[in-house]
Amino acid sequence: MQLYAFNKSQQLCSANEAASQRDYFCTECHQVVRVRKGPKRTFHFYHLTQANHCILSRKSLVHIAIQEYFFKNLPEGEVFLEMAFPEIKRIADVVWVTNKLIFEIQCSFIEDSELLARNQDYRSLGYDVIWILHDKKYNKRRLSSAEAALQNSTHYYSNMNSLGKGFFYDQWSVINKALRQYPIDRTMVTFEEPLAVDHHVIDDASLFLKERLNWKWHFKGDLFYRFSKSPLERSLGQRPASPPTANRFKNFFFLIKTIYLQLLAYGLKKWTLKL
Ligand SMILES: [Zn+2]
Repeated sequence: MQLYAFNKSQQLCSANEAASQRDYFCTECHQVVRVRKGPKRTFHFYHLTQANHCILSRKSLVHIAIQEYFFKNLPEGEVFLEMAFPEIKRIADVVWVTNKLIFEIQCSFIEDSELLARNQDYRSLGYDVIWILHDKKYNKRRLSSAEAALQNSTHYYSNMNSLGKGFFYDQWSVINKALRQYPIDRTMVTFEEPLAVDHHVIDDASLFLKERLNWKWHFKGDLFYRFSKSPLERSLGQRPASPPTANRFKNFFFLIKTIYLQLLAYGLKKWTLKL
């Protein structure tokens, strides 16, 4: 499924402006696609005959709903979906042209080698990739090879459904022998402004967020963003406002939890080095 296809004059056409029961052509495999419209679903093209070899035909409704989220929530006129990069023979899910950022959405299995190759290809054109992994497949107890490969680059999770309901979040846990342990609560992330990583911030959380120093970008609401705030402003998750006393208690609890996890991570690291 996809959001764009060529018409008979080889012009790019969005599913929103396409006519029903008319033939269009896939931008990837050039097979015939038709538009599917409905009151709730995002309008999209589907391949008339099965085309498993085509990367666009394998995209799910959830994938499309996440693409739509970025299109609707990032600045108008700056974002393009399913943008082709013929030089590297790739079609990017979401391209934020003004910031030279690409959001790649992954709802199914991907080899770590393919993921790293995409990062490298887009980087050769000056684009950085932010990975969005769907938690139906990712953020499980055992780390996938793709997630392991992403530890040093910006990535978040999403639980969005095919109707566009859900959110994006950051998640941290101790990783020991590809197993995720002691996960911290999810923290909700929004993408309206890419922020560069400030290395000065990390001093007091060096072990906790060490890998994040290698992330080139981070976003509002993620763990790095929360740690960049003063200790009293640090809180986890997107929760309703609480009275000041409760907040103080919550922040104190968060601080204790963080120190505990730092010690735990440090201990685990020492321990694994000895093995
Ligand atoms: Zn196709």
